[in-house]
Amino acid sequence: MHEMSIVRAMVNTVLQFCKDNNVPKVSEIVMQIGELSLVIPEYVEKVYPVVVKNTELKDAKLIIEMVEGLAECDDCDEIFNVVETKGYCPNCGSFNKQVLSGKDVCVKEIHTFEESAENKEGGLQQTEGQ
Ligand SMILES: [Zn+2]
Repeated sequence: MHEMSIVRAMVNTVLQFCKDNNVPKVSEIVMQIGELSLVIPEYVEKVYPVVVKNTELKDAKLIIEMVEGLAECDDCDEIFNVVETKGYCPNCGSFNKQVLSGKDVCVKEIHTFEESAENKEGGLQQTEGQ
């Protein structure tokens, strides 16, 4: 399963980050999933407990935030949601666009039981599809 490898990579990144920065027990992991990343949040939630089961993150809660798939039209500069319009610019009907957000999956923040620790490494960046 596609999501299994993504969650595994994410968990490894967090574990490594905690080790490098002497982060105490993690309470929550905030993960961002782009609407255009083809990663299904329900699957991520399903595989997460399996992946963390025998790690130091077994008590850490996973919080998933969805990131809108936004694009800017090359022809009229309209900014629109790619998922809602199925890729068309709603203003001029053009298919030419630059995707601005929603393509990535990453770890946004790690919360510990003591205090919040921003992931200064920039997290796990993965681009999935278009
Ligand atoms: Zn347009």
